[in-house]
Amino acid sequence: MSKIDEKLQPVLDEVLRRNAGEAEFHQAVREVLESLGRVVAKHPDYASHALIERICEPERQIIFRVPWVDDAGQVQINRGFRVQFNSALGPYKGGIRFHPSVNLGIVKFLGFEQIFKNALTGMPIGGGKGGSDFNPRGRSDGEIMRFCQAFMTELQRHLGEYTDVPAGDIGVGGREIGYMFGQYKRLTNRYEAGVLTGKGLVYGGSRARTEATGFGLVYFVQQMLATKGATLDGKRVVVSGSGNVAVYAMDKVHQFGGKVMACSDSNGYVVDENGIDLDLIKEIKEVRRERLSEYPRLRGTGAHYIEGGTIWDVPCDIALPCATQNELTGKDATTLIGNGVSVVGEGANMPSTPDAVELFQTNGVMFAPGKAANAGGVATSALEMQQNASRDSWTFDKTEQRLAEIMRSIHDNCAATADEYSAPGNYVLGANIAGFVRVAEAMRSLGVI
Ligand code: GLU
Repeated sequence: MSKIDEKLQPVLDEVLRRNAGEAEFHQAVREVLESLGRVVAKHPDYASHALIERICEPERQIIFRVPWVDDAGQVQINRGFRVQFNSALGPYKGGIRFHPSVNLGIVKFLGFEQIFKNALTGMPIGGGKGGSDFNPRGRSDGEIMRFCQAFMTELQRHLGEYTDVPAGDIGVGGREIGYMFGQYKRLTNRYEAGVLTGKGLVYGGSRARTEATGFGLVYFVQQMLATKGATLDGKRVVVSGSGNVAVYAMDKVHQFGGKVMACSDSNGYVVDENGIDLDLIKEIKEVRRERLSEYPRLRGTGAHYIEGGTIWDVPCDIALPCATQNELTGKDATTLIGNGVSVVGEGANMPSTPDAVELFQTNGVMFAPGKAANAGGVATSALEMQQNASRDSWTFDKTEQRLAEIMRSIHDNCAATADEYSAPGNYVLGANIAGFVRVAEAMRSLGVI
């Protein structure tokens, strides 16, 4: 059943027609349009500027061939993407994803979400996203480097610190950013530090950027709990995933006195009665580059691994989906609610399906959408750009303090906007409207472009 305002239905119909087959993009647009009916009622003038129609259409979409040679001497062909979605607030900003599932629809959903997320940070950054269907799993370091160089050889002509500033996402971490920055520098003959974020500390990266998405998520959850006079202390937390976002979310949960019961990879999940051992997770994932199934053997007692299945069967007070889109379904939401979950915070982008979100909201579970709760990563990317522009480098404490302030302000902005639009406690509505209004006001000021 559609909850779209009748004035916005034609906008959605046109998006579906024009972007046929792009299911994730449709899902992301529908969710935002469901929130905007109340904005149209309050600001009838937005319609005459076609602001909603314009925000749904990317400013530019680039698709390119990425040819490279593997270790066996075979030529491999992948497809590269960059969707430069909206630059009303600043240069396009958003990560690059390397995963076999990447296609234009996935990149557009991510780019669309990024517009609102970046607006919520309050920083001067527009929205974009990129990626490739390249599968890094099992590739040697030399193959990763040659792929990153081939990808950047084409992408570099579309980038610039005032134009478009990529970062990492799934499959793209510090190593890949380093190889891409190196290739950009070689091709342009410019040490343009602010053209990529998530860089290593020795060549212009920011302290706390690696930790920022996971830490920021837990700061956001802390703020939500505080509205009910509660804290993370003693809470049982389940975190899906075991990548960068999940690892640092688990780290901050432990710092705040919570206990992480389980985490996962794409093959299965581990449950640890004594709380997940983070150093061991980092060792398995980042040093050995192995699967989580190794965890129980290396941990000794108290832990077991479940192949397949769903991590959302593990009872918890707080659920933090930090793996990928649509990983938490309506069925999982029903299980979580039955087990008494009270807060769900999205560390990944759009990890909960629409029916899961609706179930949480109608059953009194506090729910934080990714575009608000995981904005700490890109916010710290904007702090990295700020340090690069001033040729400065901040301490970890200063950077983390700025991150904590930004997360508090995003939380308060979403909560206040939900109140203003008569939907108290609805962080989805609050995030969509607060993000949209900031971008829409800028677009209106800039004229029809
Ligand atoms: N890929 C991250 C996100 O989804 C970070 C983007 C960035 O730092 O530019 O927000």
